[in-house]
Amino acid sequence: MKSFPAHIDLNNRPVLIIGGGPAALAKARLVLAADADLTVIAPKIAAELQLELDGVARLIEREPTVADVESSVMVFIADVDEATARRWADVARMGGVLLNVVDQPALCDFTTPSIVDRERVTISISTDGAAPVLAKKLRADIEALLPARLGALADFAASYRPSVKARIPASERRAFWEKFFDGPVAAQVLTGEEQGAHEQMLALINRPQAEEKTGVVHIVGAGPGDPELLTIKALRLLQQADVILYDRLVSDEILSMARRDAERFYVGKAKSNHAVPQEEIEARMIALAREGKTVVRLKGGDPFVFGRGGEELDALRNAKVPVFATPGVTAATGCAASANMALTHRDYAQAVTFVTGHAKGEADPAPNPSIDWSALAALKNTLVVYMGVSKAASIAAKLIEHGREPSTPVAVIENGTRANQKIVKGRLSELDRLIDAGAITGPALLVIGEVAALADGETLLSIADKQRLVA
Ligand code: SAH
Repeated sequence: MKSFPAHIDLNNRPVLIIGGGPAALAKARLVLAADADLTVIAPKIAAELQLELDGVARLIEREPTVADVESSVMVFIADVDEATARRWADVARMGGVLLNVVDQPALCDFTTPSIVDRERVTISISTDGAAPVLAKKLRADIEALLPARLGALADFAASYRPSVKARIPASERRAFWEKFFDGPVAAQVLTGEEQGAHEQMLALINRPQAEEKTGVVHIVGAGPGDPELLTIKALRLLQQADVILYDRLVSDEILSMARRDAERFYVGKAKSNHAVPQEEIEARMIALAREGKTVVRLKGGDPFVFGRGGEELDALRNAKVPVFATPGVTAATGCAASANMALTHRDYAQAVTFVTGHAKGEADPAPNPSIDWSALAALKNTLVVYMGVSKAASIAAKLIEHGREPSTPVAVIENGTRANQKIVKGRLSELDRLIDAGAITGPALLVIGEVAALADGETLLSIADKQRLVA
């Protein structure tokens, strides 16, 4: 450690910035965020500073003097050439306060770190000026890991410190707080449900230690495959999980982003088509949470778009296990973006419908009987069919029978957003042949409607065109 890290209370204390340009403004914002009493002195102060700092700082247009510096606790010099910086730094040194000269580490008593700011919780990262860009990169990594409401969590905990102190013996307090920060009450504060959190916190404080073994389940969307489409929240939860239960559609790259020592259970369908029964998955999540574990139930796409997330929420709620939902990018929006295509378009489609080709527990090749295909055909908007590949022929036939044009453009997107993505395009009347010709076997979406013509990807020759060529 070359320099000593410390967090300084600047609240209402005099800070001086010497300089009147953009770097001075950046420092001004920084110290004002800490409620400093700010003075800016420079021979010329730029208009944008005048505008932004008017009323929140004193602005004085002249050369700085030793007297200016003497009354300050901290001085910054910014926006000047090296010679001027040295001259002013000499003046500041005579005033005897801590000095920072922007972009001149050799002249600095202290450097400003990269900061992750969560109100009460502040993390500062320093490379002692050696590699500021590295510090910024680390900052971005840490930003991604920390919940936005961490400051609120610290405040929440602070508000219970006296009661915890009163109710819980000193020897058990640390364990109590560790459990609190890992547990469902903290998770509730982080999602903004403070009212419920207060109720549960009181119960936690008043309950005997032995009963406190409740973990929590997060039902989390993993997106359609590309790990970069994970939400920041999903990434954070993956890194906190004790146990992860994941499905077939969750990619290895995404799993590799989880906490290294998290237990992992695959609960999707195997090649033999033998899936872990839904009730068993639910029972396992409940049991793990009751052991006090932080469980992440990771599902492809969005858990609540054809993902049985709703059933799992119900089961966990019925078991009184704390459960939280985190959405994911669903296959339809992920694949559309990946094909450079819009699902709605003011010129071609005023609405989009997501349907599933399969209904619960049904295996015959007819399209999902619970869906009113005639109403869908009449809409003439974008139709995205999940789990529709094996039923493509009958879906197309049904839509055409109910009035959708046989020439309606279609696109089939397989393994969307992944490295092995494949897109084939054609016409509704030849949807099944398109799937054969494209050798589509993996998870794929059928996009039916005018917008499909706009997708990137190969247009396989239409059958009619082929016949024309032969003739
Ligand atoms: N909950 C998921 C959907 C699960 S149903 C979501 O929101 O995306 C499974 C179906 O989703 C597959 O049969 C396929 O139709 C579609 N699907 C999932 N991932 C896909 C991908 N990467 N590319 C194309 N289709 C995908």
